[in-house]
Amino acid sequence: MAAGHGSSEMTQNAHDVVIVGGGMAGLAGALALGRAGLRTLVLDAAPAERRVAPEFDGRASAVAYANFRMLGRLGVAGHLEGRVQPITEILVSDGHAPDGLRRGGPGPAFLHFAARELDDREDGEPLGYMIENRWLRHALLAALDVAPNVTHRAPARVADVALSPESARLTLADGEEIRAPLVVGAEGAASLVREAMGVRSVGWDYPQAGLVATVRHEKPHGGMAHEYFLPSGPFAILPLTEDRASLVWTERRAAAAAAMALDEAGFEAEVRRRFGGFLGALRVEGPRFSYPLGLRVAEAFVRPRAALLGDAARRIHPIAGQGLNLGFKDAAALADVLAEASRVGLDLGGLDVLERYQRWRRFDSVMLAAATDVFNRLYSNDLPPVRFLRDLGMAAVDRLPLARRLFTRDAGADLGELPSLLRT
Ligand SMILES: Cc1cc2nc3c(=O)[nH]c(=O)nc-3n(C[C@H](O)[C@H](O)[C@H](O)COP(=O)(O)OP(=O)(O)OC[C@H]3O[C@@H](n4cnc5c(N)ncnc54)[C@H](O)[C@@H]3O)c2cc1C
Repeated sequence: MAAGHGSSEMTQNAHDVVIVGGGMAGLAGALALGRAGLRTLVLDAAPAERRVAPEFDGRASAVAYANFRMLGRLGVAGHLEGRVQPITEILVSDGHAPDGLRRGGPGPAFLHFAARELDDREDGEPLGYMIENRWLRHALLAALDVAPNVTHRAPARVADVALSPESARLTLADGEEIRAPLVVGAEGAASLVREAMGVRSVGWDYPQAGLVATVRHEKPHGGMAHEYFLPSGPFAILPLTEDRASLVWTERRAAAAAAMALDEAGFEAEVRRRFGGFLGALRVEGPRFSYPLGLRVAEAFVRPRAALLGDAARRIHPIAGQGLNLGFKDAAALADVLAEASRVGLDLGGLDVLERYQRWRRFDSVMLAAATDVFNRLYSNDLPPVRFLRDLGMAAVDRLPLARRLFTRDAGADLGELPSLLRT
């Protein structure tokens, strides 16, 4: 479907929208726009085979239940059979620091979220789903292969973006030029499109890195996710299929570098000290990864002919496992906004159309960026008064069913106005 455009130059465009970046958010965006009838081109600098290789991305993502509905509607969930672990409960506690005096492992439970507390989900929906990023990328690409209206080109590195009142012009590294009424920047935190928009971003790097590894354990996890707080930062144990878990171990940078340099036995011993023995014997499987952590929020998400999506719009601390979830919600919201504009013949790259997307998505982003920052500072700390206050706060929330339900909904990406792809 060709959207309404204002100039003869643009009616010759082969695409209504070009998405720069085929990460998980960009691919979901392409599928959602294609489903809405928009001719969409998605470009990524890395070939598809590299993006699904085991050494490319060792993380697993907690995908909120509302976002998983979208993966179903976009034909992605069908390619994930046997690879999805439902999260039925989340236990958040102040951890036993492995300081030689106390054992590792979760401390007495302070906050407990359970799927059964939410009564208006679809039948049997858990709080969320754990999916290894590698398989999620694989499923997104497989869905793209048969998706209507979408073209995926990779490797195709975008070297330059220029915005004019008439169109967005992209120049690829090999010199090829592509024009479209709208360009979407989904190329991650260092966004070229954001730069071309002249939009500043605010934020900082954390003095922490996120160490990621997969472990196999002896006892079944029962779908329970644990997050506990050690002095260096949160330590998350996220359930995967087949009695495995994905660890996200936040550590100060120097200590993270030292952990990365350990031999296998040494690394496994450090993991065990923090993990504790509640799931029995454990073994680290596959490579370990270290991700630098930072916070960055774009001052605007749109300009005429351009919009930002995923980490290009905002990058947040993984403490709440919400970065990709925000990106998925961006994709669904942008599809709703552009589908409506296309229906009534509006210019897809017009500021009035794009500002609706910005109004919808910016508040959510700023709130979560601020919340994750405060939580990270509060919990990456071992001062006794701070510890006392945060334990008090957790106990208070745990005793208020309404507050707990609110937190659970937020984790499920089910707060505020939901884009149509996310509704029941
Ligand atoms: C340790 C850790 C754990 C996390 N856990 C969770 C979780 O449980 N749940 C959750 O919701 N989020 C989680 N996140 C956040 C989540 O991983 C990110 O928000 C998400 O991966 C961002 O995806 P993206 O598609 O926006 O960007 P990216 O993944 O950065 O993808 C950008 C893509 O653009 C391409 N690209 C870049 N430049 C160009 C160019 N010039 N031309 C063409 N292509 C280009 C790249 O090749 C890449 O494929 C976690 C993050 C970390 C660090």
